[in-house]
Amino acid sequence: MKRIQVIIVIILVLLLPCQINFQSVASTSIPPITLVTNCPENVSIYFLDVGQGDSILIKTSSRNVLIDGGPGEAGSTLLNYLNTYQVSKIDLLFATHPHEDHIGGLIPVLQSSIPIQDIVYNGYKYTTQIFNIWKTLALTHNLTIAYRNQVYSLTPTINFTVISPTNSHQFSDLNANSIVLRFQVSNTSIMLTGDATTDTEQSMLASGLTLQSQVLRVGHHGSSYSTSQAFLNAVNPIYGVISAGINNSYGHPAQQTLDRLSNDNVITYGTYKDGTIVFQLNSPAQTPVVIPYPTPTVTPNPTNAKTLSPTVTPLPTPAVPELSPLLVLVTVGLISLTIVILRKRSKFISKNLNDYTGLTENCLILKVLTLFR
Ligand SMILES: [Zn+2]
Repeated sequence: MKRIQVIIVIILVLLLPCQINFQSVASTSIPPITLVTNCPENVSIYFLDVGQGDSILIKTSSRNVLIDGGPGEAGSTLLNYLNTYQVSKIDLLFATHPHEDHIGGLIPVLQSSIPIQDIVYNGYKYTTQIFNIWKTLALTHNLTIAYRNQVYSLTPTINFTVISPTNSHQFSDLNANSIVLRFQVSNTSIMLTGDATTDTEQSMLASGLTLQSQVLRVGHHGSSYSTSQAFLNAVNPIYGVISAGINNSYGHPAQQTLDRLSNDNVITYGTYKDGTIVFQLNSPAQTPVVIPYPTPTVTPNPTNAKTLSPTVTPLPTPAVPELSPLLVLVTVGLISLTIVILRKRSKFISKNLNDYTGLTENCLILKVLTLFR
């Protein structure tokens, strides 16, 4: 019986690295949603689960863009995400507005060794301690202010158009001056709204800028003060994404917002129920990217797909480590070798046991070895 216990301990020790590997990736529950674009390269967009806050990572073949970082308490989680998704540098970082649930998690990123090229914020004067810390760190980089009609190009076919705020801040409310970006990948667009309000939405509608997008990051965590019917009609998304914490104290998302999205047949995901949500924008000419990803177990079952529905395909087999036959063989071999060595050692000890009688009372190694006599 004791031998079996020892063997079990050895097996557990050998399998420990596999267990660590299983836990090193972030949690999620749905596979990536794939959209086919005309873009010559693949692009991945991660709506990261950072609890009650907002953080979006965009990866092209050579560029990484981070939009907000979630709350301060999600800082280490965000760093883990960046590590999991192999982000070794950030080319462009947007801070949509100075609220803690958007910039708090950026502080550990700014303090980390990850190189950051350009930082863009809304230029709003704000005086909280957290914002002062953020701005002091941001000023050590190339910090600029976003305003309407600017275009940040990553490649000739991948760019961000700033839809809001206006050059001189139009609103006194901080949320209403959030940076709103229309991220365009060739013929596919994603509207990223920060915490913009219905006032912002009216301003954006009046601007005459193109708002139509296949994906809408639903404004202000799904608050009832965003996502007006007029704005929803103009964006006309196929997919909606709500970034909010589970059971948050704000009641986000609001039922009215969910109802509006549902009535418009928008297929809506939420980080509070789906974890990190990934959109994979693939060129037909490119091999689909294989995203480092935990085990997806639930397949979304949209019931109201629109006519313009892009394909929703399940994730290519995720890179979850499994017990390969080779690993089993190596494990069994190591165990056998260990037993043989221990048996030889124990025989040697048996011959001289009289000399060791006193020691076996106190020496753990000798006790273990005598199990194999
Ligand atoms: Zn917010």
